[in-house]
Amino acid sequence: AISRLRDSGLLKTQGLINGDWIDAYDGKTFEVQNPATGSVLANVACMGNRETADAISSASKTFSSWSKLTAGERSKYLRKWYDLLIDHKEDLAILMTLEQGKPLKEALGEISYGASFIEFFAEESKRIYGDIISPTIADRRLFVLRQPIGVVGAITPWNFPLAMITRKVGPALASGCTVVVKPSEFTPLTALAASELALQAGIPAGAFNVVMGNASEIGDSMLESPQVKKITFTGSTAVGKKLMAGSANTVKKVSLELGGNAPCIVFDDAEIDIAVKGSLAAKFRNSGQTCVCANRILVQEGIYEKFANAFIKAVQDLKVGNGLMEGISQGPLINENSVQKAERLVNDALSKGAKVMLGGKRHNLGMTFYEPTVLCNVDNDMLISREEVFGPVAPLLSFKTEEDAIRIANDTSAGLAAYIFTTSMPRSWRVSEALEYGMVGINEGIISTEVAPFGGVKQSGLGREGSRYGLDEYLEMKYICLGNI
Ligand code: ADP
Repeated sequence: AISRLRDSGLLKTQGLINGDWIDAYDGKTFEVQNPATGSVLANVACMGNRETADAISSASKTFSSWSKLTAGERSKYLRKWYDLLIDHKEDLAILMTLEQGKPLKEALGEISYGASFIEFFAEESKRIYGDIISPTIADRRLFVLRQPIGVVGAITPWNFPLAMITRKVGPALASGCTVVVKPSEFTPLTALAASELALQAGIPAGAFNVVMGNASEIGDSMLESPQVKKITFTGSTAVGKKLMAGSANTVKKVSLELGGNAPCIVFDDAEIDIAVKGSLAAKFRNSGQTCVCANRILVQEGIYEKFANAFIKAVQDLKVGNGLMEGISQGPLINENSVQKAERLVNDALSKGAKVMLGGKRHNLGMTFYEPTVLCNVDNDMLISREEVFGPVAPLLSFKTEEDAIRIANDTSAGLAAYIFTTSMPRSWRVSEALEYGMVGINEGIISTEVAPFGGVKQSGLGREGSRYGLDEYLEMKYICLGNI
């Protein structure tokens, strides 16, 4: 299927260090598989300490020149990169579906979404402003500059193989930082193809490096290096905590996008079609494998029956299969561990009184396909309500009052995205303000965009990505006091 690529030069299997494509120093490789078929797509350089150290020193050397360009000059490179990503979106989407499994249409959507961060930050970096502050002593003048922090280590997951990279690399490069990226070992091909396009756009050697292979070795090299000034990570809460702890020794700035446990609250006064469509999208996008996927669907008693019936009907219409095939809306899960997690959470729920309304088992397509599933009679103490499912399982919980819904929704250590469905304007405000989450969708199940701040509270993370605030993560303030004028 790789032969479907129009530009076979986008299939890269080496790391990118100082502008050169490089094998692992010991020649080792690892296999990248297609989760829909199990076939091996490519053998990719399996890198570790030594390659990471070289990538960091190349990023560090390049920082002195890249950071001195004007924002407008850097912006031209990024704009070119954006154009190339869009020009090659079909190839990038095919690579993404092959290694990640998501339906081709969703992959195409991710290329546009991923590329939009490059475009947005190319523009936004021209609007980095400092301050002039009124002095407290008459013969002084006080200024604040905002300068790029330095070399950034970016570690990204497999569920959005392009967008999680561009959301970090876009603002980092735009603000004048240089980067070492470690994509997920499940999905390096999209990342490497996008990197080839960055080279073609003329982004200078060393500004943008990519290493992959031994995740903990690469991560530790980044953490230990005093040259790396910032770690930005999207992935599991457990790994995020490790990186945060590991950053303490050299006091790195840290941004984390970690796990969610999104409540999707459907009130009695909701517009049923909008609620069904929104919860379906929030739950089943990417086969449930996003950190903002609805993890618990809370439905008020008065609308429960009607909503559940309509929702189950909509889930029945989802088509499971190889994402390269026409009309498929649900691809495979990324790997066997993910299927086993879904099975463990469903079994726990069933043993505690939940009921399967639809699905509830592996799909007869085999591999890592799992049936789109709806459970009812779920309560907030079951594991499925405590952990992030990251699969196509929708647990329905019922509640009586608005206060109950808020209490249940907030009863978790995560706080990334929440969704509410209601036609009451006052309730929209009340509930949005009461939810301990970084993002709230009202009557909308898909809310991410490059122009709005994405991020969580509580144990879902630190910092924001996208929007003008996304640049702050890569900038340091410098206060300058000019005296005796
Ligand atoms: P997921 O469940 O989404 O795979 P992970 O947190 O395991 O979440 O993975 C996200 C990213 O973190 C991947 O690129 C993975 O290789 C990387 N990673 C995993 N373990 C470590 C580690 N100890 N140090 C640095 N990166 C790691």
